[in-house]
Order: sequence, then C-alpha cells, then structure tokens
Amino acid sequence: MNTINYQIELNLRNAHLIEVSITIASPAATFDLQMPVWTPGSYLVREYARHVQSFSVMQADQPCAWSKTDKTTWNIRSQFVEIPITVRYYVYCYELSVRTNHVDGSHAFFNPAAACMQFAGYTGVVPVQVVTPNEWKVATQIECHGSSHSFGDTTVWSYKAINYDQLYDSPFECGTHQSARFYVDEIPHDVAIWGNGNEQIPRLIADMERIVIATRQHFAQLPYQRYLFILHLADGMYGGLEHSNSTVCLCDRWGFTKPREYERVLGLITHEFFHTWNVKRIRPAPLGPFDYVHENYTRQLWLAEGVTSYYDNLIMCRAGLLSSQRYLEVLAEDITSVQRTPGRHLQSLAEASFDAWIRYYRPDENSPNVSVSYYIKGAVVAFALDMAIRHWSHGRCSFDDVLRVLESRFPLELPGIPEDDTMVRVISEVSGIGIDVVALFFADYIYGTRELAWDVICATVGLQPRWHLGDEAALTIGARLRQEDTRLVIVSLNPDGPAQRAGLAPFDQIIAVNNNRVDANRFKARLQEASPNSVVVVTYFRRDELRQAQVTLADSQPTAVTLESVAAPSGEQAQQYQQWLSMPIRQE
Ligand SMILES: [Zn+2]
Repeated sequence: MNTINYQIELNLRNAHLIEVSITIASPAATFDLQMPVWTPGSYLVREYARHVQSFSVMQADQPCAWSKTDKTTWNIRSQFVEIPITVRYYVYCYELSVRTNHVDGSHAFFNPAAACMQFAGYTGVVPVQVVTPNEWKVATQIECHGSSHSFGDTTVWSYKAINYDQLYDSPFECGTHQSARFYVDEIPHDVAIWGNGNEQIPRLIADMERIVIATRQHFAQLPYQRYLFILHLADGMYGGLEHSNSTVCLCDRWGFTKPREYERVLGLITHEFFHTWNVKRIRPAPLGPFDYVHENYTRQLWLAEGVTSYYDNLIMCRAGLLSSQRYLEVLAEDITSVQRTPGRHLQSLAEASFDAWIRYYRPDENSPNVSVSYYIKGAVVAFALDMAIRHWSHGRCSFDDVLRVLESRFPLELPGIPEDDTMVRVISEVSGIGIDVVALFFADYIYGTRELAWDVICATVGLQPRWHLGDEAALTIGARLRQEDTRLVIVSLNPDGPAQRAGLAPFDQIIAVNNNRVDANRFKARLQEASPNSVVVVTYFRRDELRQAQVTLADSQPTAVTLESVAAPSGEQAQQYQQWLSMPIRQE
C-alpha cells in the first residue's frame, strides 16, 4: 500500500491562505489528485477547486509536469517512479460558513473536504500534520497523536484519519478559542468557542449537557468516545453542519440573552447533535460512503433533515428547555409556513430531497411557488407520521421506536437505508398496522402532494387546529413583500394572484397605493381599510421606470394556525398527549 501525508501550514493568515503539502511516497508514472466539490450535509456542488492557487509539484528537487483534466482534477506525471513526490498549493479561505474555510489573524477554521485534494483510488490511512503558532490550540474530532515544537515559534499537531471519509468529516478549529469540557456517561464532550458576544458559558454548557442527556435517552447509548462542539459566534449569522463525532454551529454572537434568540441557539445545537444518530449513523444508503466529486442523490432527505427538524424542538420540550405551550407555538409556526407555500401543491418531499442540489440551496423568486423545504415540510410530515403511528398503535409506540429499530438495523458499518419501501415496512412492523396503510401515507405525503388533514392528525393528542389570518391583512394583492431600508419590494407573487394578474413582478418597488406613499406598515394599513373586491392603483418602479397597475384585491385565506386543546379530551387523548411530550423510557 502506498503512503501519503498531508501537511497544512497557517503562515499566511492575513492573506487568508492555508498552504497544503501532499507527499506521496511511491508515485506511479501518472496519477490524479481531485478536490471534492461538496461536503456531506450540505447538498450543493460548491466547486472547492475554485479556491486553489499556486499549484506546484516537486520530485527529487525538480519540478514535475502536471495539467488539469477537468474542473476539479489535477493529473501529475512523475519523473521517477517510487521516489517521493510533493504537491503544494494554497487555498483561499475567507468564507465564514460551517461548510467552507475561514482564516484570519484570529483563527483558522477549515473543512478538509474544502482544503485537501483526494489521491484518486487511495483508500488507506490519511496522516495529517497541522502547523500552528505556538500559542494556538487545535480542536477536531480526530484524536491528536502528539504535538511537537518546530523552528521555535510553531507547533506541529499530528493526526491520522482512518480514510478520506473520516478526514472529510472532521473540521479543524485552530486558534486561541475558549474551551470547556463536560461529561455524560463518563464520555468527554469538548466545546471550542471562536468569537465573543454576550455568551454566558456556564449556562450554555449546562444547557448543552441537558441536550446531550435528553437526546441520548432516545437511542441505545452515546455512540462515540468523545464529542466536540465547535461554536462560531458572529454578528447575525446562523447555520450548522453535522459530523460523526462533532458539529460546527454558527450563531449570532449577541443571541445568548433574549429568550427567543437563545432558544434558537439551543435549537440549532439540538438539531446538529440529533444528527449524530439521524444521518451520521442512521442514514439513507446514498449518504455514506460518499462520492466527493459528484452529487449524491437521495429521495430521503425528509428523513435526514425533516425528522431531525421535528425532533430538535420536541427534545427541547421533553428536556424542559421549551415549555409545552411554546412547543405548540413553534410547531404551529412550521405548519403555517408550509400552508403559506404554494409549491406544496407541485413538489413532493421525495422530489424536494432529490432536487436539493439544484433547488434548496439556490432559492429564487419562483421557489415558494414550485418547491417545498424538506426541513420544514419534512418536520410537519414527521409530526403527522408520529401522530399516525401513535393512533395506529393506540399509544403503544411512536416514531421514537422507529428510530430505535433503524439504529439497530442500519449500523454505520453496514449499508444505509435503501431508497425502496424499507421505511414503509419498518413503520408497519413497529406500529402493527398493515403495510398498505403505511404505503398509502407515503404515497400521499412523501411521494405525493396531498394536503395534510390537520384536524385528524392533531386529534390523536387531543389538539385541534384553529385557522386565522395571522399577520396578514384581510385583503391581499397575493404577493410577498419585504421592506429593504426605505424600499418596499415584491419578493414573490402567488400564482395567478391579483398582483400577478395586474402585471406586477418580482423585484418591483412599490411606491404608493391610490397615490398615497407606502412602506410595509402603511401598505398593510391601506389594505385593511379597503373594501372587498375593490380596485387599488399601485404605483411602482420596475428597474428605474415608474409604472402603475390596477389591482383587484382578494380575500386573504386563513393560513396561520394555532394548536389548541379540544374541548373535552378523551382519556386516550390525554394519555397520548402526555406520552408525546414526555421523555421516552430508555431501552436498556
Ligand atoms: Zn440538519
């Protein structure tokens, strides 16, 4: 077996560059290096090769010939076989997100998928050395095999990934970050925090511990020897990415004191930590091992992301981090969001999953009309499925049991869940209901676009939906608007709605209604005062041309929902409600 070694140096931090050296001990006459185009968990081709610069190859002190053969592949021609060859290049790192790289004077954060080219065909161990200033620390989920000082002012940190899948699953945070550690089941959980704001570390760590304990209650045991939370704190930012034994969460650095904002931080952490099981271990078959230079298609992102989005808030409620009343509010917000998305009539969850690569991460003004989010619609369909399982089994089991069966039947070392009717069969088996009944649910709500019957779904736990206008005026032009500084801009239009029929279009800037200047608040006030079926004159700019349109207002549909208790819950409904919001009994 050939040997390979990666060295990552961080000397050019102020230029936002990292230097990557790859040494191959016994090169063949010709071989390929390929930069991944994506990183698992974020289903978009991001073309990481576009950040590579100053590529060079040396062997026995002489430059070697190389050429690019496609956008992400470098072909190298060795002069001498069996003599070590070193490839060196820089990667520009200045995009602060959980799936890219960010290097400046304060830290170096990098995802190996976005930094380390893959030696085509190599499947062995991947040693990596990271060279940092002496005063820096390194946090990553792979264990460090020792550090040593070199040349006085730098430290070399040594790691060995068992293969490329482990390397590309292991982001590195290097710097002078705040560190903390807590234990659950005697297993260490490390926290590395880059950035400062109004974070309150002791409270945050205590709440993270509650999240870990509550999530572990849903599965057999903690499936790792050590877990790492990397938290990045930056103004107004939000996002997370799951890994096998770690996660990176990007949070607003001022989001730790106001209850609703802090709830969002904890929700993100719970979501990413739940992925430790759901998607990093229990996973659709196409999601690991991965192909890093092409899209990896699955129709089950509703399971990976939707079910996780359902459980993040539910676990927060079961752990006492959300009141049951607040939990019903956030669940209702998700249902409202789906009911306000016209695209639910056109795109199924399976299609949204499959097309994530071209749609979810590339939204435009037409997206709400033609697509759904496998996160939000996935979460409400997971709720509906959980309610159905509880109803079918008379409270004997729930989606919690489905997860436990999936955990035992699809362990990491075996292939993931096939893209066939496996999920239907597992749910039928767990709930004891006929396979045809479960298959019909999937045909309607996973593979189809049938409207969810909320009255029936909510009745299982003694709830009923109450529909109302929410923040909508009673009359509407059928368009989503956004106030951008002083401009009121159309974001998207409902298909065949009043605004679209009158010729208004996305990006039009609305100036006045019936010759009265409007902003978002005044626009809503003018619509509140109008009478049904009245015609209003809307003055607007399209690009820089002033125009007018006559818009016939329509009645707003009550698409916002509140979940309320039924008047007199039956004994079974009360019991089901209690079980639903309680911590599951752990299966020892
Ligand atoms: Zn997720």
